[in-house]
Amino acid sequence: MPEASQHRDVVIVGGGVAGLSAAIFTARAELDTLVINHGASIVKRNAHLENYPGFPAGVNPRLLIDMMADQVDRNGGDRRDAKVEAIEAEGDGFRIETSEGTVSAGNVIAATKSSPAYLEDLDVDLRDSGSKTYVAIDDDGRTAVDGLYAAGRLAEEYHQTIVSAGHGAKVAITLVEDVDPAFYHDWVAPEGYFTLRDREVPKGCEEIPKEERNRREHESVQVMQEYFAKPRDAPPDKHPSLEDEDGFDP
Ligand SMILES: Cc1cc2nc3c(=O)[nH]c(=O)nc-3n(C[C@H](O)[C@H](O)[C@H](O)COP(=O)(O)OP(=O)(O)OC[C@H]3O[C@@H](n4cnc5c(N)ncnc54)[C@H](O)[C@@H]3O)c2cc1C
Repeated sequence: MPEASQHRDVVIVGGGVAGLSAAIFTARAELDTLVINHGASIVKRNAHLENYPGFPAGVNPRLLIDMMADQVDRNGGDRRDAKVEAIEAEGDGFRIETSEGTVSAGNVIAATKSSPAYLEDLDVDLRDSGSKTYVAIDDDGRTAVDGLYAAGRLAEEYHQTIVSAGHGAKVAITLVEDVDPAFYHDWVAPEGYFTLRDREVPKGCEEIPKEERNRREHESVQVMQEYFAKPRDAPPDKHPSLEDEDGFDP
């Protein structure tokens, strides 16, 4: 639960595909990042995710979301379960009212897929299309309000997981560059890649020696084996309009 008067560099509203992806990038850029999520990513309704690159035989989308959340945690981001109810401008940033308290932030990324009612006190351009409302952004993810960004399906990106993940990353990088123009890239490079060419390692990059590369790879193999040791039990979420007696049995 967000504690009153807590201030963050970045609050990300929505811990689905776009929001978690964005958080990995802002947290790795050493911005104090909080993801506030309430409810389940819509990808948890998918039966088996077969078009997300890197998983040749597909992946359980509920596992993928858990892995993305763990990646936020490993990189120093925080996550809280709360519903964001309203956001107001406050000083140079924002005051965020949630079901569990108030938090303030210098920057906000909205990534809630739909229903941006919590943005109504801000001068954001919204576009209605059927039952959906989208947030208007520029090519890089900025809304008309300084410090407020939107990512994923909420920003009218294609309704695909990899697109939302990629867009979350892109919008986060825009935010990082707006906050810190000196930041270059979030890259891990082999030792000597920059320095053997008499270049300083740019801000955001890291050079690692062979031993550290091997250690990280071994750890990654072990971690992935744990995730994939056996199939997950949790079935896909049902569409909210279906009743228990409708016979949906995935
Ligand atoms: C049945 C089904 C099958 C699909 N199959 C595929 C597929 O095979 N391949 C593919 O690429 N894509 C598939 N998709 C699409 C994919 O799931 C979406 O495009 C993707 O999840 C969108 O990501 P997002 O981050 O924009 O939204 P989401 O992942 O839905 O994340 C939004 C998050 O915000 C939270 N939230 C909402 N309001 C608030 C609030 N006020 N406060 C706090 N949190 C809030 C939500 O609970 C959710 O966790 C499928 C979708 C469905 C429904």
